[in-house]
Amino acid sequence: PRRSRAAVTAPATTGARRGVMTEAVIADDVGEARVTAAAAGKRRVVVLGSGWGAISFVKSLDASGPYDVTLVSPRNYFLYTPLLPGAATGAVEDRSIVEPIRRPISSKGYRYFEANALSVDVAKRTVRCRGSDHTFQDEEDLAKSQAWKEFDLEYDYLVTAVGAVPNTFGVPGVQENCMFFKEINDAARFRREVNERFECATLPGVPKERIQQLLRFVVIGAGPTGVELAAELYDYVYQDVAKTFPRRLLEDVSIEIIDLQEKILSAYDRRIAEYATDFFQRANIKCLLGAAVKEVKDGAVVISDRDGSNVREVPFGLAVWCTGIKLNPFCEKLIESLPQQENKRSLLTDKNLRVKGSDGTIFALGDCATIERPRSLAKAEELYREAARCTPEGDCEIDLSKDGVKKALKYGFDEFPHLEEIYNRVDDVFTTFTGGSDRMSFPEFRVMLEDVDKGLRALPATAQVAKQEGQYLAQYFNTCAGDEDKIKQGDARFDYVHKGSLAYIGKDAAVADIPGFAIVKGFAAGLIWKSFETVSQVSPRNVLLVAADMIRTKIFGRDISRIN
Ligand code: FAD
Repeated sequence: PRRSRAAVTAPATTGARRGVMTEAVIADDVGEARVTAAAAGKRRVVVLGSGWGAISFVKSLDASGPYDVTLVSPRNYFLYTPLLPGAATGAVEDRSIVEPIRRPISSKGYRYFEANALSVDVAKRTVRCRGSDHTFQDEEDLAKSQAWKEFDLEYDYLVTAVGAVPNTFGVPGVQENCMFFKEINDAARFRREVNERFECATLPGVPKERIQQLLRFVVIGAGPTGVELAAELYDYVYQDVAKTFPRRLLEDVSIEIIDLQEKILSAYDRRIAEYATDFFQRANIKCLLGAAVKEVKDGAVVISDRDGSNVREVPFGLAVWCTGIKLNPFCEKLIESLPQQENKRSLLTDKNLRVKGSDGTIFALGDCATIERPRSLAKAEELYREAARCTPEGDCEIDLSKDGVKKALKYGFDEFPHLEEIYNRVDDVFTTFTGGSDRMSFPEFRVMLEDVDKGLRALPATAQVAKQEGQYLAQYFNTCAGDEDKIKQGDARFDYVHKGSLAYIGKDAAVADIPGFAIVKGFAAGLIWKSFETVSQVSPRNVLLVAADMIRTKIFGRDISRIN
């Protein structure tokens, strides 16, 4: 038979049991590769990704519902990212924080393909996919596979949860000279490289300058990921290397963290940011703050002050880029095929996570999507002007106090829930925009409004958001029970509930901001962090593995052997 392009099709499914997926077969000689509907009467849902958004969607979807689900991801496991810094130093093992994606998939009778989604044909409702390459040994082998490795999946609904990719912000040299820190392979590489450096520094006759160069670690980005990585590295050095390597090495180790903001964890509550910055400085983790990275050379980060002055070089042995994410290339392509997506930097969805311009058949969630919000700033301005008795030209009888501003905003809550989010931020930012005064003028109010709105418009790129969105969307699909009109046009709305922020800062300490409850810092927060990250694993198996790792590390220390 002709093998022009092999086809992946689902077998005839008449009479298939509800919720039980028939296995896809590879058939010869069908020309275009396609996967068509499996179970009769079911709606085909194709889910892209195996991260936070995708797994929570799949887990919350009712297996007995009228959906035939196919999940596509180049990664055949879910990765519990919050413990990735721990895996990078051996505090937890990498296998403890990954969950094979086939487990939840097969338990629900769904189907999985290890492949990358390449593009979407919106009109035909198909996704072109390409099987992962890594099982192929050489170029020749790979070339032979090309013909049958690409296939199309037909969908009724497409759920895009492909996450984001690291952003270098165009800084020269980042790609070539820094490590990124996003995937399990990054953690494994970091662990290996750090260990290799200490072993090398211990060899007889290595000059002092070389030792210092080997052991100079620079983390770029002082958000939660960078801070936790620096903290875990600190623990690794002072809890494990200190006991097992010659102690003289410690005086040559340096850990530095660079950020544009004036505090580490600057997006957290001000008290947390101040505490964490102070904690790092006392722990001798050098904080280079208010510093813009201009370039990364081989062995040195070039930084300046925020205004571009005072350009200097920070030498390093190992530099890790932990700042910023950008649109996944798959989403860039999808945006191109949807003319209504005018914002080219983000995949815009409506409040129900339906991708704008996609006829209600494509949904997006997690790091790859942004919910478009109704513009409510004009209303806020109107409310200020009414309260301050302003003329149309903007001349106002009074400047409003903080309480006055909040009271004015309150009148708009019903019509624009977004104003309530702005209201919640006023206490924190008020004096920043009045230059310390307790009254705010109309122009100052406008600047504050724009600034706060900008920060609030996009939900944070966190696992917490992706997980809630996945759960929400699955519930929505469950409720719609396959009703096409409801799914495509139903007037539902995803509301994010922020349950708090946690970050590990080293020496068994953490910071926790639990809204409406408290800000906890230090050892107590460390216990909360450890317990939370253990019980939040996606399967009981992983809970056990992580708990065992944490206990093992506490009693015996990290495994500092370099086995691969
Ligand atoms: P991801 O979880 O990134 O999943 C994307 C999935 O899509 C992956 O499986 C990927 O393989 C797949 N994919 C990519 N391209 C394609 C394609 N073309 N076709 C098909 N599949 C594709 N958030 C918190 O709330 N708390 C934390 O403590 C925290 N710590 C973090 C620590 C680290 C080191 C990192 C990197 C992130 C951390 N985050 C944390 C952020 C959190 O991990 C992300 O916000 C979250 O993973 C986003 O979920 P997602 O489903 O959108 O994407």
